[in-house]
Amino acid sequence: MSVVLSQHPSKNNIIPGKSTTTIVQQTALYLKKKKKEEEEEKKERKKNTLSKVLYYLVQRNETLIIMAVAELVAKCLKAREMAYCPYSGFSVGAAILTTGGAIITGCNVENASYGLTVCAERTAIQRAVAEGYRRFTAIAVTCDIKDSFVGPCGACRQVLMEFGTEWDVYLTKPDGTYKKTSLRELLPLAFTPAHLQKN
Ligand SMILES: [Zn+2]
Repeated sequence: MSVVLSQHPSKNNIIPGKSTTTIVQQTALYLKKKKKEEEEEKKERKKNTLSKVLYYLVQRNETLIIMAVAELVAKCLKAREMAYCPYSGFSVGAAILTTGGAIITGCNVENASYGLTVCAERTAIQRAVAEGYRRFTAIAVTCDIKDSFVGPCGACRQVLMEFGTEWDVYLTKPDGTYKKTSLRELLPLAFTPAHLQKN
């Protein structure tokens, strides 16, 4: 903060012959200006501190997100090892992240009737619901295919959509590399519970 000398009511700045009222007015003006400058400075300081705090929080949040995704991906890979797939030999793993940060996993469970086979994604979501979770933010899925990123089947996409439209989906290869997409992208123009609500 700098004070403009010509506006300072020092004796150098007082014009001889001016009345006391003028000096009082000058002092009042000077104090008012000084107060305003101090307030501006305070605001600026507060703004700088706030942006530093916000920057720190954003950085921290991004780190947490990266950590959560790494854990989610690791758990879906682990879940694949539990697959019951004696007929196809095609093992699939899924891991669901709840809004509260819990991770629920699932694997495909085949059946001799073939038709009663349940996908890993649906196993995971049914487990999650049975354990009291209904709000989710992400799912990671993986299968045996090494050379491309494979998405959930159509039936599973519809089942996921039942529990929210804003899912992040991590299509994961067996080596742990993944591609992020979203449920909206995988199931555009979806039929959702909202369509059954009366107008
Ligand atoms: Zn499926």
